[in-house]
Amino acid sequence: MKRKLKGTKPVPKRCILLLLDGLGDRSYKVLENKTPLQAAHTPHLDLLAQKGANGLFHCNQYGLALPSENAHFAIFGYDEEFPGRGLLEALGAGMTVAPGEIPMLAHFVSLEEREKTLFLAKDRPETEGEEAVIFTRAVVSYESEGITFSYTQTKRLDGIVTMGGGASPAVTDSDCFVEGEPLIDVLPLKASEDRDLAARTARALKSYLVWCYETLCSHPLNAARKQRGAFPVNGVVTQRPGVMNHVESFADRWGLRAASVSSGLMYWGLGRFLGMDVHKVKDSDDPGEDLFARLQMALHQKDDYEFIHIHTKTPDAAAHTKDPFNKMKAIESLDKGVGKIIDILDDDTILVVTGDHSTPSSGPLVHSGEPVPIAVVGSGVRVDRVSSFDEVSCAGGALGQLRHGDFMYCVLNWLDRAKLQGLMDCPEDRPYWPGRRKPFRLD
Ligand SMILES: [Zn+2]
Repeated sequence: MKRKLKGTKPVPKRCILLLLDGLGDRSYKVLENKTPLQAAHTPHLDLLAQKGANGLFHCNQYGLALPSENAHFAIFGYDEEFPGRGLLEALGAGMTVAPGEIPMLAHFVSLEEREKTLFLAKDRPETEGEEAVIFTRAVVSYESEGITFSYTQTKRLDGIVTMGGGASPAVTDSDCFVEGEPLIDVLPLKASEDRDLAARTARALKSYLVWCYETLCSHPLNAARKQRGAFPVNGVVTQRPGVMNHVESFADRWGLRAASVSSGLMYWGLGRFLGMDVHKVKDSDDPGEDLFARLQMALHQKDDYEFIHIHTKTPDAAAHTKDPFNKMKAIESLDKGVGKIIDILDDDTILVVTGDHSTPSSGPLVHSGEPVPIAVVGSGVRVDRVSSFDEVSCAGGALGQLRHGDFMYCVLNWLDRAKLQGLMDCPEDRPYWPGRRKPFRLD
């Protein structure tokens, strides 16, 4: 008869989420019908797949092409009204957003006028020296129909346009993304709660953008640029307005002390919005070393946090060059960074590797709706038979298909923090155990 052994499973203390942005992709003939992740030489990511449980993950519904901000909002376990990327980048840039203000993404472009229509001739044209700052100053403040506009530079030709004076966020984007296409007219959204206000906001925003165009066209700097054969910087385009709403903090919702180690304004802003500690890092031209440094940073502070989000934009950025080989090389570089920490992972840590969405490195789509692979390694995690970390192999893994709100519940479960449904150790029904319980005192 078998002797009954006591369980020896160590209880993990933290989860590290290694988020490879835009990781998922499609199969391409130039890669012998493989995806860039399948085609890449990734011995270390494959080793993680072999050590753990694998599956596919979509932050919303299959087929839906998600931007990183919505995907991350869902990964972190939020399904309330999304505050908008404009708001998150404004927060990430350290701006203060007053109640009622509407920040939106904005950047400078080169426009061409044909038959009374504005076309995008060049997105973010090259600039020299202080040109970007000088152009920003030229369009920094405006008012129309009681709605105010202010432009705050965040990085070279990128910035935030904040609408004040009771504006509505329910207007269309003017940014058409694709060079050669006409800019998009600013219109009120049909779904807006206050159609009159949305219509007034759309008129005022259009008036601001026309004023930007006229002001910049006659700017002396553009005369100088013309002389040297450079594209004029003569327009501003806008997209994704946001509003400041309040959600409960990540710590309140999931009972975990959390940090984000990331390099982009949106991630810094989302971390700030959710009350996470934000460790700002910069990208160099060696993504593997950058990733290694981020993982080291997380491991050094591992006792301060129970959930650490480590982010790299590299696969997404490589996919946007629309060359599958670029993405393959970017993934191989990241694999080297992962390889340097595999041996120092201990039983206290659950490591999750996944992406936020798929970014096709060919074709017209910005992002696409396929799920991404996910691998989980750590104490107690079911070990399956998957031996390669990619979009196809992971589909046969023990995790199956994770979607939408599943992720943070799985994290609590992997960390042995999942509450048995029905137990109430504090007045609010939280998914984590133990909750913030009050000791039973006799006085
Ligand atoms: Zn992208």
